[in-house]
Amino acid sequence: MSEKVNCLIIGSGPAGYTAAIYTSRANLSPVLYEGIQPGGQLTTTNEIENFPGYPEGITGFQMMEDLKKQAAKFGADIRSGIATSCDLSQSPYKVTIDGEKQIETKVLIICTGAAAKYLGIPDEVKYSGIGVSACATCDGFFYRKKTVAIVGGGDTACEEAIYLAGLANKVYMIVRKDYLRATKIMQERVLNHPKIEMLFNTNTLGLFGEKAVEGAHLVRHAGTPQEEKFDIAIDGFFLAIGHTPNSEIFKDYLERDETGYIKTQGRSTKTAVPGVFAAGDVADPHYRQAITAAGSGCIAAIEAERYLL
Ligand SMILES: Cc1cc2nc3c(=O)[nH]c(=O)nc-3n(C[C@H](O)[C@H](O)[C@H](O)COP(=O)(O)OP(=O)(O)OC[C@H]3O[C@@H](n4cnc5c(N)ncnc54)[C@H](O)[C@@H]3O)c2cc1C
Repeated sequence: MSEKVNCLIIGSGPAGYTAAIYTSRANLSPVLYEGIQPGGQLTTTNEIENFPGYPEGITGFQMMEDLKKQAAKFGADIRSGIATSCDLSQSPYKVTIDGEKQIETKVLIICTGAAAKYLGIPDEVKYSGIGVSACATCDGFFYRKKTVAIVGGGDTACEEAIYLAGLANKVYMIVRKDYLRATKIMQERVLNHPKIEMLFNTNTLGLFGEKAVEGAHLVRHAGTPQEEKFDIAIDGFFLAIGHTPNSEIFKDYLERDETGYIKTQGRSTKTAVPGVFAAGDVADPHYRQAITAAGSGCIAAIEAERYLL
């Protein structure tokens, strides 16, 4: 079973829907597959306060419903289904949906996003959106003048700790090892920051709190004679231990960095394969915001349009 289309968009986050709005208005008749998480990552959060155009804020679910409606209004063909494999060796490119249906497309816009890594403790799920966050830029503002903890020891964790320290009264930085992996300059910044307290050799055992996070159960030097369990009182628990870009099915055809982010050319969304574009978090190790994802979805659509001229 094979269907020929002009423009295939994979993913229904801000990048995918924005690409769908632009390509449908440009008469490219896009077909979009929503994937396992219709609406993308934002559907897992309550309040979005930093997307321009919503002065009162908006729920992630509503915002994504609005974007979907807008794409559908201009004729984007939005479908349920997951891209399970692909063949990008020659145009038209072939993408298999749900392991059975094959789509042949002249243009492919990959907007499959990235998933934040979690520690894997059950309390992260229990307190998701009520004290647990994997995005300091997104949620730090909700913790002004409060006490938070951030887990991680790389550059991103340090950057986010400093960002949080600009808002919160106190930031605990929970680091598994006895050193930071971050670059020297970032290390110096967090180590010398008056609001950041380092907790080295420390792991998180769980979180507690009646209606939202009120604290974390920690262990220092786990499994050694010096093992010490202790609690800290916190209002927010942030993860900064990395993301996994949803790019696995493209790995045989597209260049990716060591983490799996799809590499694009300069400021464009072009991959090394002509007519294949990557937009949003799947190609963005740096910003990972709804507005930047939407912006790159727009760029991909315009580049797709020019490619098809
Ligand atoms: C809890 C949380 C809160 C956040 N809060 C904010 C905020 O307040 N403000 C902000 O700007 N940003 C926020 N972000 C970040 C923001 O959600 C992301 O930057 C943005 O959603 C990225 O958009 P995207 O379109 O690249 O991908 P995503 O939103 O990740 O969407 C990816 C899409 O691809 C689909 N997909 C994946 N694989 C396949 C496949 N094989 N086949 C078909 N479809 C596939 C998924 O189903 C999904 O629809 C938050 C993120 C999280 C997790």
